[in-house]
Amino acid sequence: MSETQTQQPPRTPAAASEALYRLIGVTRVYSQRGRTVTALAGVDVEIAEGDFVSIQGPTGGGKSTLLQLLGALEKPTSGSVKLAGADFASASSAELARTRAEEIGFVFQGFNLIPTLTARENVDAALEPLGLPKTERQARVAEALAHVGLADRADHRPGELSGGQQQRVAIARAIVKRPRVLLADEPTGNLDEAMRDEILVVLERLNADGLTLVIVTHDSAVAGRARRRLRLEKGTLREVTT
Ligand code: ADP
Ligand code: MG
Repeated sequence: MSETQTQQPPRTPAAASEALYRLIGVTRVYSQRGRTVTALAGVDVEIAEGDFVSIQGPTGGGKSTLLQLLGALEKPTSGSVKLAGADFASASSAELARTRAEEIGFVFQGFNLIPTLTARENVDAALEPLGLPKTERQARVAEALAHVGLADRADHRPGELSGGQQQRVAIARAIVKRPRVLLADEPTGNLDEAMRDEILVVLERLNADGLTLVIVTHDSAVAGRARRRLRLEKGTLREVTT
């Protein structure tokens, strides 16, 4: 791991009375071939700025749906999802796209890197919508890759990297825009234990630097590192007390 990490400046905190996320009565119902599925059955939850939250639960319980709502990739069927006081329900699709580009970092189980681009180019792609000057872009990409310990792999393509390294590139791509929150859906699901531990080290360091993390995981070792553990089953969310 590289020791040359630059501290990211702290984000403007949400107003004192506001949680980073506030969800009230959130439902999500899918209709398919005349059948309806209730993926989320009324979720009320607040997530504090700077927290590290894990979400566990059985397949089909609604975890990915909840993460997509937090990521402004979907809108709830009813209820409200607010990020730093702004309600996604009343936002236009252009505003939601801007929120995703600037405020929300996403990491998926399958890394989702572009195979023909180098690590540097994959990370840089996330800055495209922000319209930054080229020198600032280059500095931010270098900083993000250093942050995940991959400064020396910037010119490698995904096929030349291990799974753990690929996921670290994906994390660099998510943090390079300096988001308010990092959302991860099974980020270690395709990795062996050693690579999982690489990812955990990176995630814990980001959280120590102040980044809010929400991580869906089947892995109790990952969930065990979270400060707050939630469980989502049949569309209903509850706190796990240990
Ligand atoms: P998890 O991530 O916990 O496995 P999901 O959020 O993916 O759960 O799914 C919750 C429920 O919603 C499941 O029954 C699933 O089949 C259904 N579902 C999810 N996405 C869609 C969709 N796009 N269309 C129809 N049904 C969906
Ligand atoms: Mg899922």
